[in-house]
Formats: sequence, structure tokens, C-alpha cells
Amino acid sequence: MEVCNETKRKYYRFRADRFYGGIATADCMGCNMDCAFCWSYRTRIHPERFGEFYTAEEVAERLVKIAHEHEFRAIRISGNEPTLCKNHLLDVIRTAELLDPALLFVLETNGILLGEDEKYVDELSKYHNLHVRLSFKTGTPENFEQITNRPKEWFELQLKAVENLYNKNVSFHPAIVKDYADAYLIDRLSDISPEIIERIEYESLKLYSHIRRRMKARRLL
Ligand code: SF4
Repeated sequence: MEVCNETKRKYYRFRADRFYGGIATADCMGCNMDCAFCWSYRTRIHPERFGEFYTAEEVAERLVKIAHEHEFRAIRISGNEPTLCKNHLLDVIRTAELLDPALLFVLETNGILLGEDEKYVDELSKYHNLHVRLSFKTGTPENFEQITNRPKEWFELQLKAVENLYNKNVSFHPAIVKDYADAYLIDRLSDISPEIIERIEYESLKLYSHIRRRMKARRLL
């Protein structure tokens, strides 16, 4: 099932969350990867069972309303992969900036589309209310396929995304799953710029029972 429908996108939840010191969150549906430790895999695999389609304006208005109600300074799209519906995402960021320019929009992404499409990063670089958190699922191309169920060549796309964001002065930081933070990845990030190393966030895996099952099935546990 398609999760992008002209200018609309499918979401299954809007909520206040504690991360980033408090953040209004819209949980979208759909992703171009299939990570073994994905905590939101049910909505990703079965988009027909959950959620509704929303316009960019509806999403931005809901996010800003939640942020104001809780006195948060940040908003985000989370759940699955926000970059899938490009025009919708850009419209959400733009509308949120118009509604409240002081709110920070945190774009959490696996970076694949930002590595594939440099023009996408050009578009993002126009927004001053934006910070990108680019999440690496593993530190080497060798186990990329086992972890993400996608071709190992895509590992390079994540690095290309970092390069694009860095070169276009978009505010960003890489997040790396601690258990897979291989020196190879750190070296490759350092090759783009040593200052990127200072920005790395090390992410801990939460091994819920459904995640353990999926990791065992891929022989990662
Ligand atoms: S990139 Fe994120 S949403 Fe997509 S499968 Fe991996 S963990 Fe899940």
C-alpha cells in the first residue's frame, strides 16, 4: 500500500514525547529499509491496518499545537522514514516555520534519499528551522544487508547524505547504533570532515521481545 497520496501522507499517531527536552511528534508510516531492530515495524509492514492520510498543513498545525500546549521548542516526524514523500515533508517544514519560526524541526532519517538526491538536500538547506539526525544502522557495508535487508551499496548512500548535508551547511549530526559503531564508519565520517566526529550521537538498542525475535531470525543474536 502506498503511504504517499499526492500531497498527503499516512500517519498513525500525533503525540508529545520527552526526547530533545520535549518534542511534538507525528508518527508517519512507510520506510525504504527493513531494519532487524526497527521498533515500529508493524506500521511499516502493514500500513493498510493503521492510520489516516493527512495534508502537510494538517500535520504542521497539529505539531505546532502540541508544541504550544506543552511549551516545547521542537517538533518532528518520527515513526518510520519521513523523507519518503518529498513534497509533503518540505511543505510540513515550510508550514511549521510560517506558523512558529522559533520552533526547531528535527528531521530523523536513514539518509538514503538524501544521499541519492542532492537536490533534496538543496531544498532542505533553505530552511533555517531545521536540524537533521541521520541514523546509521551499522558501521560497515559487510553486515548492512543482514541488518537492513537492503543492498550493501546503500551504505555508501548514507555517507553521501552526510557529505551532501555537510557541503550544503545543513545543521545535522550522525547517530550510530552503539553495538555496530565500527571504526570503519568513524574513519569514513572523519574523511568527510573530522569535526563531524564531535557531533556523533551513540544510540543504544532497546531489545524489546519482538526486536529480539527479528534479530534472531537474521542471526544477529
Ligand atoms: S530506517 Fe528506521 S523506520 Fe526504517 S526500517 Fe530502519 S529503523 Fe525502521
